[in-house]
Amino acid sequence: MSGEQVPPRDSWDPIDEALYGPEDLYKVKAEEADRLRLGAVRSSLNRHYTRNRFYNTLCKQRGVTPEDFKKLDDLAKVPLVADAIFKQYPEPGKFVAWLRGISCDDVKYPKIEGSSYQELIDRLNEYGLKVIFSSGTSGRSSFFPRDQIALEREKHFRLHHYRFLGHDPEEYVVQLGPDYRKIHPNWVIAHTAGNDDRRFHKEDRIHHMVSIDATTDTVHTVMGQSGQMGRFQAKDKLKLLKEQAREANSLTAQILEDLNKKGAKGKIGGTPPLLNDFLSWMENSGERLSLGDRWIIETGGGGLVSPETLYNRVERVLGIPSENCRDIYGLSESTVSFPSCEGHYYHIVHTLLHPFVLDDELEPVGYGEFGRFGFIDPLAHAYPGCIITGDRIKLLESCPSCDRPGPVISSPITRAPGAEDRGCGATVRKLMAEVTDGA
Ligand SMILES: [Zn+2]
Repeated sequence: MSGEQVPPRDSWDPIDEALYGPEDLYKVKAEEADRLRLGAVRSSLNRHYTRNRFYNTLCKQRGVTPEDFKKLDDLAKVPLVADAIFKQYPEPGKFVAWLRGISCDDVKYPKIEGSSYQELIDRLNEYGLKVIFSSGTSGRSSFFPRDQIALEREKHFRLHHYRFLGHDPEEYVVQLGPDYRKIHPNWVIAHTAGNDDRRFHKEDRIHHMVSIDATTDTVHTVMGQSGQMGRFQAKDKLKLLKEQAREANSLTAQILEDLNKKGAKGKIGGTPPLLNDFLSWMENSGERLSLGDRWIIETGGGGLVSPETLYNRVERVLGIPSENCRDIYGLSESTVSFPSCEGHYYHIVHTLLHPFVLDDELEPVGYGEFGRFGFIDPLAHAYPGCIITGDRIKLLESCPSCDRPGPVISSPITRAPGAEDRGCGATVRKLMAEVTDGA
C-alpha cells in the first residue's frame, strides 16, 4: 500500500524530516522523537508568526516570539487558539475572506462567489484548497482549510496510521454505515476514514451496509445548518432508506458469514453506536459468528464509553478477539488522528504532535491527570495548529499495554464540562435516526 510521492530529501524542512524521515512513525524512540518534534514545532511556529497576521497578533498580545521556544519545556508558553474560533465564521458572502483571515499570507484564495458554504467549499476543492468541516451536531460546524502541502503531508501520515491498525490490503471491508464520501468529501470522517478505505483496499471488496445519497438536505444536517432544510424531504427516498436500515443488520450478518466461509480476512468499520446496534440485533436473533483473528473491528467518530464492555460483546457475538478491536480518536481540529493499540490506548504520533492537558485555567498539568486536550500540530500548514479542543482526556507518558514508545491517551475521552455533545458519531446517529424515524 503505497503510491506515495515523498519529496526529495534535500528539500525537507524540519516538519518533513519529522514526517518522512522515520520508517515507522510509531516506533521512534522517545529521545529522537523529542528532537524531531521540537524541530517541527519550532518551524511551524516560525511560519505562523511571520506569515499569519492573526497568530502574529496573538503572540504579540502574549508577549512571546518564536525565539522564546528553544526547548520542549518552553512550549508550555506557546499561545493556543480555542477551537471556538474556527466556528465563528460569517455568512457565506464573507466566508472566503474569513478563511483568508485565519490562513497564512502565502495560501492563495481565488475570487469566487457562492450562496452557500457547500457551494463555496466545492469551488475551493476545484482550486486545490480543501476546507475540512466537522460535524455540526452542536448547531455549528468548524472549518479548517488544508492547502496542497498540508494535504500531501496528511496523506503520508495516514499511511503510517493505517499500518498501525494492522490492516492487510487483501482484506474485505464491511462498513456498518454509509459511504461518508457520498455525503460530502470534505466532512472530516469522509476525508479520513472514507478515503483510507478506497486508498488501501480494492474497490470491489468494500461493502457499505447503508446507502445515503448526498442531497443538499443531508449535507446541511451534517454541517449543522438544519433549520427547515435539515430533514429528508423526498418521501420515496426516505422510504427506501428506512427499508435499507431495517435490512442492513441481517444483510451484514449474511455478508460476514459468506466471507467467513471463504476464509477471507476483513475489517468491520463503523461508529461505536452502529456496532452496538448490530451486536444487539445479532443477540436478539440468536445469531453467532466465529470470525477469529483474521478480522479487525475498527470504530471511530466518538461515543466509545467502555471499550471492555463493547469488546467483550464483540468477542462473544462475532468471535473477534479484543486485541483486534481498535478505535480511532479523530478530530477535525487536527491533521493527525490517534489510533488505539491492542490494549486500547490511543497512540500519539510523537515525532510531530505536541500534546497538552490543560486545567480550568488552561495551564498545562502533568501526565495521569484529566483535563482539556490541547496540542501543537505542525502539519497544519495553512492555519496555526496550536489549538485547545473541547475534549477531556488523560495523557499517559507511555503505553501500559504495548512497547511502542511515546505518550498515549487513555479512555474515556469525553466532552469537557461546558462543551457540547458533538462528533461524527453523534451526527451519524442523528442521520440514522432520521432514516429510521421518518420525517
Ligand atoms: Zn499501546
